[in-house]
Amino acid sequence: MIDLDNLTMHYGELRALQGLDLHIPQGEFFAFLGPNGAGKTTAIKLLTGLMKPSAGSVRICGHDIQKDPLQAKSVLGYVPDVAVFYEKLTPFEFMQFIADLYQVPAKEVAPRTEALFAKFDIHRHASQQIENLSHGTRQRLAIASTLLHEPKVFVIDEPMVGLDPVHAKTVKQELKARSQAGMTILMSTHLLNIAEELADRIGILNHGKLIALGTMEELRQKFEGQGKRLEEIFLDMVSEAEAGD
Ligand code: ATP
Repeated sequence: MIDLDNLTMHYGELRALQGLDLHIPQGEFFAFLGPNGAGKTTAIKLLTGLMKPSAGSVRICGHDIQKDPLQAKSVLGYVPDVAVFYEKLTPFEFMQFIADLYQVPAKEVAPRTEALFAKFDIHRHASQQIENLSHGTRQRLAIASTLLHEPKVFVIDEPMVGLDPVHAKTVKQELKARSQAGMTILMSTHLLNIAEELADRIGILNHGKLIALGTMEELRQKFEGQGKRLEEIFLDMVSEAEAGD
């Protein structure tokens, strides 16, 4: 469902992403981990078509994001780490706007909006201007609006930012349920416990390279110490890669 082939990005002299090859199959919940500056956001911007790679390609459900951007984006949902809205709209109006952009069938818009607002506890804010919403409510609205067109591939950067524990649990449960129902999810996070809890597979990026890839169990086996927490594995791998450099 997501195919990255030799994905490479240079900013001048800086090699932010160095030949990333990755296949994420349908229904997989995949987590990108990595220290600051590892290249996670760069990878996400390339795979959502927000930037053009220096080399390599991205396919979303078989559609090349550069050659066939409309087809690719029609099946893609992307929640950035800081969502951008039209601040004077209400959540209801914003959902209508997103529905129009993605050509959601007219009769589907109201029931889907209703269900998403109920799921993400947005109803009581639905008629307020977005500029007056709290950070957590904005984040839930960003997620709800990105699910409105029922994307096959869902990309989310730091999903838990600004969410209290109750709403964080709702978001985790909903994303996990949707991935089990077939939606492919790529999540970028610094929160190791979230990756460990949700992800089927984890990729650790450092200096633009994938330095580890596998299930939690595979990553554990790679690092002899059985029973290690992901945090220890992550720190071990990053320091090993630093030593190699
Ligand atoms: P963080 O966890 O801090 O968000 P990240 O893993 O998302 O980091 P990127 O934002 O992809 O990392 O950055 C990778 C490298 O590319 C960093 O060295 C960063 O400074 C650099 N970089 C990112 N965007 C640009 C840009 N537009 N121009 C020049 N350099 C950039």
